[in-house]
Amino acid sequence: MSTQQWVTVLGSTGSIGTSTLDVIALHPERFRVFALTAHRSRETLLAQCLTFQPRIAVLNAAEDGDWLRNELQTAGVDTLVETGIEAHNAAASDPCVDVVMAAIVGAAGLLPALAAAQSGKRVLLANKEALVMSGALFMQAVEKSGATLLPIDSEHNAMFQCLPNQHRGGLAQYGVTQLLLTASGGPFRGWQHDALGSVTPDQACAHPNWSMGRKISVDSATLMNKGLELIEACWLFDATPQQICVVVHPQSVIHSMVAYQDGSVLAQLGNPDMRTSIAYGLGWPERLDANVQVLDLFQVARLDFEPPDEGSFPCLKLARDAMQAGGTAPTILNASNEVAVAAFLEHGLAFTGIGDVVAAVLDQASVSDVDCLETVLEADLYARKLAQQYLAQRLGKWVC
Ligand code: NAD
Ligand code: MG
Repeated sequence: MSTQQWVTVLGSTGSIGTSTLDVIALHPERFRVFALTAHRSRETLLAQCLTFQPRIAVLNAAEDGDWLRNELQTAGVDTLVETGIEAHNAAASDPCVDVVMAAIVGAAGLLPALAAAQSGKRVLLANKEALVMSGALFMQAVEKSGATLLPIDSEHNAMFQCLPNQHRGGLAQYGVTQLLLTASGGPFRGWQHDALGSVTPDQACAHPNWSMGRKISVDSATLMNKGLELIEACWLFDATPQQICVVVHPQSVIHSMVAYQDGSVLAQLGNPDMRTSIAYGLGWPERLDANVQVLDLFQVARLDFEPPDEGSFPCLKLARDAMQAGGTAPTILNASNEVAVAAFLEHGLAFTGIGDVVAAVLDQASVSDVDCLETVLEADLYARKLAQQYLAQRLGKWVC
């Protein structure tokens, strides 16, 4: 490919964002950075702007924007600094942009990712919460605009690689019988529910195989991440929850598999390094160097598989049931989980309380059909309020 592509990295200062810039830096002849966006991490964003000299940099708070503008001016870097939520959407949908990496964490990433999808970009989707919250609307937007949606989540990227080229619509037409979604089991694999009551945020964030942001690390420890990924896979591959089998595979070497009716099972293997799926998304349909260590199967030596323990880790079933219920149920699941994870990380909620909060909110909330984006955003807000009320009772204080 001869022409350079302009890339916006939403959430550039996070784990996926920095890995994306690592890969981009390997291929300066192919990619130029159009915009870098972040929430509050202004020092990291400054360093990235000095290296990549994007046209635009975005932070949420005006005072952070003033600081960054000043620093860049002093350094003689000609990057336009914008602030506020809308600026992320504009950076994702600007007509100059070819590729958008959607790597903001949580519900905050929905609108910018959707803006990229609506404006027909190549969307590299790491922000799984966007699909969990509004899968139907998101997929419709991709269809309508002609955007190219490439999954970056390692499991979905693996499935994408194991499915036929240009697959569209239901899996049965390709002879697919099952998607095998692998899970590491997280840092507490094998622990009983009672022992999990006293684990700390640092223990929960110490993932055995992957280095990730704190929210997804906690989700991995509760298995909610696998639940969110199950929902994500349903939307991406037009699958039902019954067509997806979660397989705990502690080595995280097989990133997921696709089973076919003739008995074949195709798998994608690699070292647990997100730069592989990021490079796949950036280069597709070509393959790019990602500077990832070659997989040494003799060192790996063995691959183990076991079923998930849904008794000790109830979040996976909560997610599967929410997808089955449909409508706004997955939005409610996602919002209550975000509030619960923040309460665990910052306000002393027990680890096992996360599943309790989500279950209580799903129990109490009324679910409606999703007809437009407003319905999704209202359900998100409503579930957050219910979760906060539940937490106020449980912890004896308000958290937000
Ligand atoms: P992270 O916490 O390391 O980074 C999050 C990024 O989002 C940061 O740049 C932060 O500044 C930005 N951000 C946070 N809140 C924001 C807001 N309100 N507005 C705008 N920007 C905001 O997270 P991460 O681990 O890089 O994960 C990013 C996304 O990718 C998540 O949805 C996660 O589930 C998904 N994902 C991550 C991994 C991984 O290995 N880290 C793997 C698969 C999927
Ligand atoms: Mg994943």
